[in-house]
Amino acid sequence: MDYGIEVQQSKSPLPPPLDLDGVIITHAHLDHSGFVPGLYSRGYNGRTFATPATFDLSHMLLEDSLKVQRKRGMAPGFSSQDIKRMGRKEKIMNFKEPQEFGSSTVELLSAGHIPGAAFVKIESRGKTLLYTGDVKFIPTDFMFGAEENVGDIDILISESTYSYKNHPDRSKLKAQLMNIIEETCHNGGVALLPSFAVGRTQELLLMLQDVQFPIYLDGMGIRATQRMLSHPKSFRNAGMLSQAFENAHKIRKNHDRSDALKGPSIIITTAGMLQGGPVSFYISKLADRKDCAMALTGYQVEGTAGRNLLETGIYDNGEINVQPAFPIHYFDFSAHTDRDHLIKFYKRVNPEKLILVHGDRTPEFAEEVRGMGFDAVAPKNGDRLTV
Ligand SMILES: [Zn+2]
Ligand SMILES: [Zn+2]
Repeated sequence: MDYGIEVQQSKSPLPPPLDLDGVIITHAHLDHSGFVPGLYSRGYNGRTFATPATFDLSHMLLEDSLKVQRKRGMAPGFSSQDIKRMGRKEKIMNFKEPQEFGSSTVELLSAGHIPGAAFVKIESRGKTLLYTGDVKFIPTDFMFGAEENVGDIDILISESTYSYKNHPDRSKLKAQLMNIIEETCHNGGVALLPSFAVGRTQELLLMLQDVQFPIYLDGMGIRATQRMLSHPKSFRNAGMLSQAFENAHKIRKNHDRSDALKGPSIIITTAGMLQGGPVSFYISKLADRKDCAMALTGYQVEGTAGRNLLETGIYDNGEINVQPAFPIHYFDFSAHTDRDHLIKFYKRVNPEKLILVHGDRTPEFAEEVRGMGFDAVAPKNGDRLTV
């Protein structure tokens, strides 16, 4: 289940066993899907399973990841051919349609994180295992919440991105963000919204649908939105998103960017953590303008240009180094569930064994939940567990 890369370093994962019965991708994000083609380059010739939206979005992100890694002079560990090879071995799985794998039954349930994102439930020899992938329980403007009714689970493998904090109230955050955008635009400025192509871009489009100022969409968010719109049941408010996408000015050529820069305007663009993409162009062009504003709405991983900008006020992506005169805001709109909801979920599922993954503080969290009576472990990469 899942075989990703560390996105910021494009680091390949540990070599896997190749005698796998199959590969299941929970969702398209590269920390889950980013090295599946690498299995095929190493000789794996079996099937890969995922939901239709996950396959569609994965292909876009994998091709982009190849391009980015080559541009940075890295060796990606697989080629475009391997992505195609994976494509030929793909088998679609829809939510709640269990499939037999030898003596096991596998079922995908909605995980509420991004379109197509799934929990994987495996029943084998009288035991049931659930792997959350990335999960969000509370619905947003864009996503339905995760499936709450997961049945009896013996072994739970849970993400723990936000094991250490709770998220602020999303509707309050949204009101604050809207205020900043409206005020900036009323003063003739540009509201710059760096955003992940998959997920946040679409949520922002939905949030901004009643705003009366021109909205520009730049970067991979355009293609990502198009792809999602072909899976309208995989998220909420497809009709509204389609309308909002139609109304937004899509930047196709460089000279379209000069219109966007005039203001008043709102620019939604990649990359979400400011590492690359058109956002660096906008930051450099707008750096001297005090009438503009930037709002980061996604998690900023340590060491990224986005995190450094928040901490130092200086933007440096290796090519551009500027100190923007405009204010920079951060809003914790997360597509991951928070601490209280994770713990609530564990208490409800009450698994025999709890395996914590996908977090910066998994050992500390395991310790904490052991104190609550769970048999919890936080394995390191390469550890083997017998369940
Ligand atoms: Zn994810
Ligand atoms: Zn993830």
